[in-house]
Amino acid sequence: MYLKNSKKIVIKIGSSLLVDKEKKIRKKWLSSFAKDIKKLKSNNQKIIIVSSGAIALGCKKMNYNKKNLKLDKSQAIASIGQIELMNLFLETFSKYKLDISQILLTLDDTEERRRSINAKRTFENLFDLDFIPIVNENDTIATSEIKYGDNDRLASRVAQITNADTLILLSDVDGLYTKNPKKFKDAQLIKKVIDLDKVIKNINIKGMTELGSGGMNTKIEAAKICNLAGCNMVIANGLSLNPIDRIQSEDNCTWFISRISKMHARKKWIISSISPKGELIIDDGAKKALHSGKSLLAAGIKKVVGRFNKGDHIKILDNKKKEFARGLSSFSSKEINLIMGCHSNEIQKILGYVSKSEVVHKDDMVEI
Ligand code: GLU
Repeated sequence: MYLKNSKKIVIKIGSSLLVDKEKKIRKKWLSSFAKDIKKLKSNNQKIIIVSSGAIALGCKKMNYNKKNLKLDKSQAIASIGQIELMNLFLETFSKYKLDISQILLTLDDTEERRRSINAKRTFENLFDLDFIPIVNENDTIATSEIKYGDNDRLASRVAQITNADTLILLSDVDGLYTKNPKKFKDAQLIKKVIDLDKVIKNINIKGMTELGSGGMNTKIEAAKICNLAGCNMVIANGLSLNPIDRIQSEDNCTWFISRISKMHARKKWIISSISPKGELIIDDGAKKALHSGKSLLAAGIKKVVGRFNKGDHIKILDNKKKEFARGLSSFSSKEINLIMGCHSNEIQKILGYVSKSEVVHKDDMVEI
C-alpha cells in the first residue's frame, strides 16, 4: 500500500545484488529489476536508482580483491568500474525502453543547501525528460573526510533532497530483526517501525554489522534521515528476481514509517535557510492571497532585490518592507524583473519559453 501510493521512489541496490560471490554479473536479476521499474513507471511513479557496484565491477575487470584496496587505489578502481556499471544498466534498461542518466554525488552536494538545490533541480529536469537518474557516490574524488562512505546514507540524502515518498533499500537481508538472525534462532523480523528510537533501544544494532553491505547501522542512520524528511523507508531482501514486485506481494520486509508529513519537513527546511539570496516585495492583494494559502503570482510582485537563480531561497516582503514569508523561487531574479506585474498567461510570451505560472508555489513557501 505504501509503495502503491508513492509518487517518487528512490531505490538503492547494493553491489551483492549485481555481482555474485563468484564475481559473476547477475544479468538475469538486473533484467527482472528493469521489468519491475517499467511497471512502476507505467503507474506514473518517478524513480531514482542509487546503485553501488563501481568498485566491485572495477575489481572484477582488473582482477583485484576489494578487501586489499587502499583508498587511492579504490578511487582509480571506482573510476574504471563506474563505466562498467553504467554500461550494464544501459544495456539492460534499453531492452525495456527505459532511458537512464548518471549522477555522481559527493557529500557536499546534498549537505550544502545551495548545491542540494542544484542537484534537486537536475533530478526534476531529468524527470521532465523521462530519464531515470542512476546515482552513485563520486568515489573517484571522495576522500575519507568528504565521503558518505556507504550508499545507504547517500540514498537517504537523495530521498530527502528530492522530496521522495519512499526509499527502498534492497539488500541481502530481509529487514530489521529483533536479534541477529545469523546467531539467534528466535530472532524475529520486525515488519513495521513507527517509533524508531523506541524500537532500536532494545536491539543490538552494532552486533549486526555483517548484515547487508553497510551493516544494519548505516540502514538505521538512513531511516533516521528519512524519518525527519517525511519519507517512508523499507529494507527488503533484493536477491530474488523481481525484487520490487516482491515487496508488494510478500510481506517479508521492514517498513519504517515517518510520522512527519513531507510538507511539514519541507517547510521546516525552507524556514531554516541561513542566507536567502534575495527579496521580493509584493503588493497588499498578493499578501492577502498568500495569507489565505495561495501561491505568489507575478502580478503581485512590485520589486526584486538581489540576484538569485531558479530554486534559490528568497524572502517575501510586504509593501512596508516587512518580511512575512520565505520560499523557493521558481524563477531567477532576471526573469522576475521581466515578468513582475504581468498576468500569469503572459509569462510564456515575455520569456519565450514555457515555465511555471507561480513565482513561488504555495508548497515552497512558509509564512513567518
Ligand atoms: N559507492 C560504492 C561503489 O559503487 C559502494 C558503496 C556502498 O556499497 O555502500 O562501489
